[in-house]
Amino acid sequence: MMPERFDFMRRLWTSPFLVAISSAGLMILAGFLFVFGPGNLSGRWIAVAAVSMALVAALRIRALERSAETDQGRLTSQLATLVEQNDRYRSTVDALADGLDVALFVCDSKANIEYANRRAIAFFQAESCRGKSLLAVSLNPELEQLVKSAVINELPQSAELSFRHPVERIGQAKAWRAPGDQVFVSVYEITELRRLERIRQDFVANVSHEMRTPMTVIRNMAETMLDGDDAVLRDKYLPKIISEVDRLSTISQDLLILSAAESNPVRKQDCDIVDVLTNVIWQLTPKAADKGLKIGYRGPEAFMIEANPAQMIQVALNLIDNAINYTSEGHISINVKENPETIEISVQDTGMGIPSEHLPRIFERFYRVDKARSRASGGTGLGLSIVKHIIEAHGGKLSVQSAQNEGSTFIVVLPIGHPSVS
Ligand code: ADP
Repeated sequence: MMPERFDFMRRLWTSPFLVAISSAGLMILAGFLFVFGPGNLSGRWIAVAAVSMALVAALRIRALERSAETDQGRLTSQLATLVEQNDRYRSTVDALADGLDVALFVCDSKANIEYANRRAIAFFQAESCRGKSLLAVSLNPELEQLVKSAVINELPQSAELSFRHPVERIGQAKAWRAPGDQVFVSVYEITELRRLERIRQDFVANVSHEMRTPMTVIRNMAETMLDGDDAVLRDKYLPKIISEVDRLSTISQDLLILSAAESNPVRKQDCDIVDVLTNVIWQLTPKAADKGLKIGYRGPEAFMIEANPAQMIQVALNLIDNAINYTSEGHISINVKENPETIEISVQDTGMGIPSEHLPRIFERFYRVDKARSRASGGTGLGLSIVKHIIEAHGGKLSVQSAQNEGSTFIVVLPIGHPSVS
């Protein structure tokens, strides 16, 4: 840095005003020396040359100063462009990181957070993460350990971790070194994936179990009959074998319905939902009458919606059949209520009801509150999951209100859609 006094002198010396004044002064001095200067002619010329050189030097300094000013101006604008570019890159990276479904952290080598994207803040419900330790935010020592291992081993580290804070979740976590001393940490939530995997495993186990039981019964009875040519045994076992075979075919039929409901897109058409309900009521009335139950209907005489009629029949059959199976006295009421955009169908019974602890699970495949009773009534444990799938595939909702010994009400809400006839 130039001392202030010299800087002032330099500015004064190179100022255009001073250069002009001094140039004019030098010209006058050169003329004066030429006319009145030392006697001989060469001495005068030397004086004029010296003054002219000084003038050229002053002008040269000024030109250099000007070009330095131009360079400085250019550098300043380049710097401004770089800062602007940097800001733009930064906001692009922020927007990119915030749009990801993965929680992302940038930490220092001691696992203190320097940056957290939006998903990370939401995942751990942490208002501000910056400056806090990863442990304080995640409450998971294994995640912190992953960062430390990535630093020590200089290799990416990953693990499936269980998080308890703020709610129970499973995440696939990864930590890897970034350039410099930083460490990137990502957590991808796989709770739903693991839940679905468990359901699939349970499903396969359940199907095998459900099919093995009747098959074992059939085999044992057949073997007993084979051992002795006993007409009494045959008369006793053959009806049982037939009923177990029927049971097997009901299970496979329900599995096919469920799989079709899960994998095929719904083919909707104009469907009179009241016509569907009254037909199913008519079909099941003898079964209800055998138990001394009446089925009542309250609602419009016809109501068109956009739906798959065969699947609507399946829904009505499963819900009303259940209501009959799990009710020993009283009655069953079917109500249809019209809303501006939806239609609400409820199937209410005065039966045994469902204890509250079972309510969250009754829509799961093969889940039964009372296995023996379900089997006795020919149930497969798949009826409600079929109903749920069909209703959700139609964009609707299925819910239940029930309490033990107080009956149950299953409520289906379906979008009306845009039927061509209404
Ligand atoms: P299931 O073939 O056993 O009837 P579902 O999937 O239709 O299978 O129903 C699952 C379980 O929910 C049944 O086993 C039964 O315990 C209970 N459930 C269903 N509907 C009713 C109802 N209306 N009243 C009482 N319990 C019911």
